[in-house]
Amino acid sequence: MTSKVSVWILGDQLTPSHPALGVAEKDVGKRNLRVLMIKGKGHLQRLAYHKKKLVLILSAMRHYAEELKKDGYKVDLIDAENFTDGIQAHIEDHQPQKLYMMNASSFNGQQFQHSVAQQFGIDTEILPNAQFLCNRFNPLPDKKPDDRVRQETFYREMRQHFGILLDADGKPEGGQWNYDQKNRQPMPKGLDVPAVITFEPDSLTQGIMSVIENEYGSTGVVDGFNLAVDRRQALAAAEDFFEHRLCYFGTYEDAMSEEHIVLFHSMLSPYLNLGLLDPLELAHMAEQSYIEGKVELNNAEGFIRQVIGWREYMFWQYQRLMPDLAEENYWGAERPLPDFFWNAKTEMNCLQHVINRVLENGYLHHIERLMLLSNFFTLTGVNPQDVLKWFMCCFIDAYEWVMVPNVIGMGLYADGGKVGTKPYIASANYIHRMGDYCEDCRFNHRERIGQDACPFNFLYWHFLLTHEVVLRENPRMARMLYNLKYLDNAERESVIRASQKFLESL
Ligand code: FAD
Ligand code: SF4
Repeated sequence: MTSKVSVWILGDQLTPSHPALGVAEKDVGKRNLRVLMIKGKGHLQRLAYHKKKLVLILSAMRHYAEELKKDGYKVDLIDAENFTDGIQAHIEDHQPQKLYMMNASSFNGQQFQHSVAQQFGIDTEILPNAQFLCNRFNPLPDKKPDDRVRQETFYREMRQHFGILLDADGKPEGGQWNYDQKNRQPMPKGLDVPAVITFEPDSLTQGIMSVIENEYGSTGVVDGFNLAVDRRQALAAAEDFFEHRLCYFGTYEDAMSEEHIVLFHSMLSPYLNLGLLDPLELAHMAEQSYIEGKVELNNAEGFIRQVIGWREYMFWQYQRLMPDLAEENYWGAERPLPDFFWNAKTEMNCLQHVINRVLENGYLHHIERLMLLSNFFTLTGVNPQDVLKWFMCCFIDAYEWVMVPNVIGMGLYADGGKVGTKPYIASANYIHRMGDYCEDCRFNHRERIGQDACPFNFLYWHFLLTHEVVLRENPRMARMLYNLKYLDNAERESVIRASQKFLESL
């Protein structure tokens, strides 16, 4: 007699070809397997997650389950307080002899999966997570956790292995790996920015919206939910990006705008992180747009670098540096998170805008996450673990594997340089150059001290002065530190006084 088995699919594993499902089906056939999906209420309420993120996950799970049913699978989509209760109930109801899983993306999820066999006395099989390319090919298998690995090294290995944007000799297309000198320009005034495709919530999603609105006291609002909730819609969102925005992706990837939220970014991270889209398929689509002459090389390469470079590098670093990475606090930063991050009540125009945006939509593009929010948190010495929680609560694409290396590593340099190569800090000069927030601000981006001085200015110099000795050890900080010599003693004292006053007011 063929044994009955179950496949447990996690809420962020909604991939079209789930490896655990594939293997289980091959072993026992579709008739003898049952899919388990658990909506763990305690898990979804562990932090005050953004309501739009909760709608997205629950609706996408529901749509995925419906698709599986249409394909002839038996699906047990259950509500439970937590995963333990959910698995227990499923085993009692269906008595599977074996549970197949795909490795979770989060460290705690992986630990839990490995405990299932013993906890429930059931045979288990855990397949590698196919949602990350570095699980299909580890570009640097010999590296130890203490070895510093630059993203650029990692990215080149990935491009070579997966054969993306290479010429006939296996060299980088166009002769360079990187086209940053053409990228990172501010937005010219008057350039048309195409609207991002939106999706009307269907009756399933509407039902979930009202449950979240009424039962979950979390961050943000459900109103205006218009995201893709299944693979078909996610692909339409990807096609919309390739058709209308990839053409300027690299050129304006660091630009910031008071009027436009997404600019020429893809807004595909929520779908990639749920498994609805695959990183390699997106890299191939970007490459194809270049081959067909629809976009220039710097824009296609810029996007490919993000998806198979940065995204994979972050997951790779997370895997090898956890669990310590999440607890790092290199600067010894202990300030609590300022209240205005929950209500946007600040006179700093740039922060007011982006906090309002994120509370409403749960999305900001990369440079606003890095050079506005993280920059401010670093300069003011907010505790990294508090910052991490705030980011986890506020973003629709937030998952631990991606937040920890981005916030603790890249954003705050709280790991002392294991993920990034330097602290990403800047004064108002950068923010003014790359965007238009300063034009409408009550503060003056040019002033370093005085009533109207932009806080980013005195805080920036204060940070350099406070951490000068440590920063001097990093050659990438040499240029910033060189400018300290233009600050005389009186200015140094004023910068310190202004910063202390500001920090006390937070
Ligand atoms: P695009 O600019 O269009 O880039 C394309 C894709 O590249 C993204 O969809 C994303 O999948 C990938 N990507 C680019 N940079 C990174 C990166 N540094 N790490 C991982 N993937 C990257 N990304 C998340 O997916 N979830 C998060 O919770 C998250 N938190 C972040 C927090 C901080 C402090 C910082 C600095 C970055 C964070 N990122 C996070 C990375 C990046 O900012 C987002 O992936 C990106 O802004 C998502 O918007 P997009 O899809 O329009 O990206
Ligand atoms: Fe932000 Fe300073 Fe510019 Fe105001 S002046 S928008 S606070 S950078």
